[in-house]
Amino acid sequence: MKVTTRESLAATAAREWQLYGYDPTIGKQLVGVTDPDQVDLIVGNSTWTEIICQECMKNKPTVLFSNGTFTTQLCRECLEEGAKLL
Ligand SMILES: [Zn+2]
Repeated sequence: MKVTTRESLAATAAREWQLYGYDPTIGKQLVGVTDPDQVDLIVGNSTWTEIICQECMKNKPTVLFSNGTFTTQLCRECLEEGAKLL
């Protein structure tokens, strides 16, 4: 399990951008940028720092669950609701 926040996504944006082979001009601007609002500004949208909970579909910090095959992200509220069912 790993917590995913806008900040954690911003911190890896430059590396991910380069891995996907997107426009190197933008990739260079992302190097060293950790502020998610700044990443959004450079990229031109919020897709690189957006985190969608897979249960409520809201954009908020989540915990990422992955076993290598199946991956999902759940926010605190949805995790707490799920825990009540146990
Ligand atoms: Zn949720």
